[in-house]
Amino acid sequence: MYKKLILDAGIRMLHSGLTVETWGNISVRDPKSGLVYVTPSAMKYDDLCEDDIVVIHPDGTIAEGSRKPTIEKDLHLGIYRTRPEINAVVHTHPVYSQVFAVLREDIPPIIDEAAQILGGTVRCAEYALPGSPELAKYCMEALGKTGRVCLLANHGAVCLGADMEAAFKAAAVLEMTAQIYQMTRSIGKPVVLDYALVAVMFDFASHHYGQGNTKNITPGGSC
Ligand SMILES: [Zn+2]
Repeated sequence: MYKKLILDAGIRMLHSGLTVETWGNISVRDPKSGLVYVTPSAMKYDDLCEDDIVVIHPDGTIAEGSRKPTIEKDLHLGIYRTRPEINAVVHTHPVYSQVFAVLREDIPPIIDEAAQILGGTVRCAEYALPGSPELAKYCMEALGKTGRVCLLANHGAVCLGADMEAAFKAAAVLEMTAQIYQMTRSIGKPVVLDYALVAVMFDFASHHYGQGNTKNITPGGSC
């Protein structure tokens, strides 16, 4: 089940413009066993099969698989170690998010979707080489205790979720926010949302929004 989830996520990431070629990587954690399923290093997403997915113990040792895991496996494992509520991580290389990663600028909450899903300012991590322990460290610093996404300087983005669907939603909202931020800055001065309202929207979207509860007509949800 988790191997198929990774295969489908790889194809989705590639064909939704969140990366090109073999860049980026994806993981999912089985919350019951603690095992982490990751993409292999430098293989085309369209060509992957279930045997190519690498299964890793939380300490980084290989549990299953003959391929080399993604070089960013320590970044994924570090996130799972410190964020028990997170079970999926998507590392993307999308164009507009990278515009701000190259500028090494944070992205403020400028649209309601960013407030609801990302919860506040998206931090840009310090630069470090791909696959290095420093990159994992800087990424976790930029995410903090509650961040859903962060930028990696001159490199890409890291997007987290309680499950794969939530991680992809965060990735899509980040890229849309970055695109709108770039466009609005090119013709004017974007107005950043009031942070008190951002907190209200994030709480609502996290705990009350959806068909399964009765509070979804309260202001603050998405429409
Ligand atoms: Zn990368």
